[in-house]
Amino acid sequence: MANYALASFADSLKPPHRLAHLQSRNILCSKAQQLVLLANRSSQTLFVNPQLEMSPSAAVAMSPAIIETTNHLASSPNLGAPIVLPQSHKQRVSNPGRAFVRNALLSHLAAMDVDAGVSDSENGFFVADVGEVYRQHLRWKRNLPRVEPFYAVKCNPDPQVVRLLASLGTGFDCASKAEIQQVLSLGVPENKIIYANPCKAASHIKFAANNGVRMMTFDNADELHKIKRLYPGASLLLRILTDDSKSLCQLGLKFGAPLDTTLPLLKLAKELELDIVGVSFHVGSGSWDPSAFVDAVERARCVFDEAASVGYDLKLLDVGGGFGHDNFETIAAVLGPAIDQHFPSTIRVIAEPGRYYVANAFTLAVNIIARRTVANQEGEAGLADKSYMYYVSDGVYGSFNCILFDHQHPVPRVLAHDGRFLYNEARGDSSVRCSVWGPTCDSLDCISEESFLPYALDVGDWLYFEEMGAYTGCAASRFNGFPISRVQYVNSEKGAEEMMKALSA
Ligand SMILES: *Cc1c(COP(=O)(O)O)cnc(C)c1O
Repeated sequence: MANYALASFADSLKPPHRLAHLQSRNILCSKAQQLVLLANRSSQTLFVNPQLEMSPSAAVAMSPAIIETTNHLASSPNLGAPIVLPQSHKQRVSNPGRAFVRNALLSHLAAMDVDAGVSDSENGFFVADVGEVYRQHLRWKRNLPRVEPFYAVKCNPDPQVVRLLASLGTGFDCASKAEIQQVLSLGVPENKIIYANPCKAASHIKFAANNGVRMMTFDNADELHKIKRLYPGASLLLRILTDDSKSLCQLGLKFGAPLDTTLPLLKLAKELELDIVGVSFHVGSGSWDPSAFVDAVERARCVFDEAASVGYDLKLLDVGGGFGHDNFETIAAVLGPAIDQHFPSTIRVIAEPGRYYVANAFTLAVNIIARRTVANQEGEAGLADKSYMYYVSDGVYGSFNCILFDHQHPVPRVLAHDGRFLYNEARGDSSVRCSVWGPTCDSLDCISEESFLPYALDVGDWLYFEEMGAYTGCAASRFNGFPISRVQYVNSEKGAEEMMKALSA
């Protein structure tokens, strides 16, 4: 295993040749806009090439190198949209987090000896860079200064993530008693918590009442009666239905008051002498159409006006979640102005981002615990003569539940092969076809039906998956007796480290 350490040292001295390669071709891809931009070096103009428009997954399939190089540009706090390579930088662009993640992966692998059959050594594990969460927070502040983020705990309740965000002073969107408890236990003040589940269990409402967590959402009459009975002093937000058709996870099937019900609900609340303070919405998780936010803000404005007609003076707008780490600037660029256009500065505006904060902060490494070799049909162009089925140490019943529940398509990359540590390296000619399967006995447990990797991997090798921070470990089960992948932390931001120290002191 010492080989890994040597390889890593040598690797760290290599120039970021991929980036140089991209530059030499003047190609820059912004995943955020799902477009390939052709930069004309001499005139500094950016041309959009519509022929190359593609979905993020298609783009990843085409060239992981291109996507990856710009991903870290997108998440760098110094660069907003549009993403443009600085003329002078040449080789100097680097993701501040990547080196930290690399070291953590390397030292974990170096300490493991899978071949010896030592217990746990082949378990999957996450590397979480809390510095990335910190950078996302700065990015939020820069792009949506008027909107206070209330982190949606359900997306990833990782204790270090929640602790960091608490120390940064974000609020929290909690959906249950346990989430409220977790956040309160860190000393977060009650008024920084919104209980944003429109349909709540009675005992959870009681818990909120007993702990002074006043802000909560509702979207129907039954809930109003329940709240009247259990917590008449609550500060209520009416969650309205919005168009979520352009999002990965549509929430409108389950939640949100249709606009023809909002006036009757407001009247009922008035009769019950309940305190309505604002309006909330959620355009759907993983939203790819920024205009959904604008439309929702306009609907919220209508409901504010309806409320005024009933005698309420609403003061709070909650624009929910749905922000991606790869389309944030695009959304912010239309959402910010829409809020300003429809709501005077006396209205407080909050949001409930989940995915945005954590998606990019977690990398998952899995071990190849078993392999099956499959002969390819003769004459399949460009392919080696064999394909492989890899069985790995985490799967769809574990961290990869995001494939089922969150409509994700995680992309496998080679982390270690043949004693070599290949993080961020193994690219080039990817001609070995494989499928990747989880460890359980269910055939549904498939991570990738078809991928192409540059090597034929062996049992004991490692794969890794990036962007595994949102809706992954938190919904993992122990089905079939397989353990849940643990988290190892790194912190690529000095500022984040200091915040966390201050909090624990
Ligand atoms: C899930 C959820 C969120 C977080 O959504 P993201 O798409 O992860 O930002 C926010 N608010 C509510 C009410 C939710 O249910």
